[in-house]
Amino acid sequence: MREELQALSADHLNRHLIPTADAHRPVLHRKGKRLVNFSSNNYLGLAGHPRMIQAMREAAEKGSGAGSSRLIIGHSEEAEALEQELAAFKGTESAVLFPNGYMANAGLLSSFLKPSDAVFSDQWNHASIVDGIRMSKARKYIYRHLDPDYLESLLKTADQQGAGRKLIVTDTVFSMDGDVAPLRDLVELKKRYDAALVVDDAHGGGVFGDEGKGMAHELGVDREIDLYMGTFSKAFGVYGAYVAGKRDWIRYLINKCRPFIYTTALPPVIIAGIRASLRLVRDADRLRRELRQKSGWFRRQLTGLGLDVAGSATQIIPVVVGENEQALLFSHRLQEQGVLSVAIRPPTVPAGTARLRFSLMANHREEDLRQAIEAIKLCCFA
Ligand code: PMP
Repeated sequence: MREELQALSADHLNRHLIPTADAHRPVLHRKGKRLVNFSSNNYLGLAGHPRMIQAMREAAEKGSGAGSSRLIIGHSEEAEALEQELAAFKGTESAVLFPNGYMANAGLLSSFLKPSDAVFSDQWNHASIVDGIRMSKARKYIYRHLDPDYLESLLKTADQQGAGRKLIVTDTVFSMDGDVAPLRDLVELKKRYDAALVVDDAHGGGVFGDEGKGMAHELGVDREIDLYMGTFSKAFGVYGAYVAGKRDWIRYLINKCRPFIYTTALPPVIIAGIRASLRLVRDADRLRRELRQKSGWFRRQLTGLGLDVAGSATQIIPVVVGENEQALLFSHRLQEQGVLSVAIRPPTVPAGTARLRFSLMANHREEDLRQAIEAIKLCCFA
């Protein structure tokens, strides 16, 4: 272990946990220093909203833990109501809560996929999708990032190799590049090759689509998605996740998905927070507009400086630097200028593409964004 840790240090990859207060706010303090925060996923600025806190406080008065797993006695009336609200929100027959997005992805993929099935996964899909596929033992076909032609060639190959059922899985908004999956093309392919399509809308939920219903709604293909996974930890500002789709698929998960079955239900405080958040998200058109407008402005400033934003088209805007050491240095220098953007390094991103990732929030103030651009200019060009 010591040798492995030393090797990580040599590659500038040994990470540390740094206590941080107010991590969900657009401006936070670390060791007494004021920092404009670009490393939170609280995209709409809803975390800590008074109505959410009030709902959570009221739930806390009634108890703390759920007391048991869902299939024993941990399925509360509030969880039942929330699942119905979620199905109505997504326009699906059914929905089920999960403790978090990692367990939802790992759980749904490992339980649906049999070793004889074929799974098609974008090469930059989230680690929880990668791990779910590994757990499943299905035949895996990894397609080039955002490349439907490549995916089609793999679908053909799988058919020739006598694959069983076929399942395509993709992030909607990619967490490290902020680019968007070609969902319309994927829907075409899924129909042509009789495959299922599963989307991870962790970074699209709340931010895109009418009432924040997500990226598939934004792109007008929501009826064609077989299964949605979404989290409540990002734009929703709470914690937890859901899977939504056809009733039978959800019933199957409830009966077969080990990460669903063998864990304690989400605490009532979290359920209450999610229910309050869902109402806030549906009403948050103004925040969505502001986020879009601020993200567009920030992205244009960066591209205007000739920086590589890796195809970002959303509130996630990376600046790809290359080497790990350079990314760390960039991040440190920005912090000295009062701007926090944590360096993202392998294995989270491929070797040679270390980056800073700027996550915009609807409640970033314009002067804070301008301060960040000036700081970036100073660090890159002074
Ligand atoms: N999918 C994607 C695309 C993510 O970015 C994340 C969170 N980093 C997850 C799933 C996992 O979600 P959670 O944080 O709720 O476990």
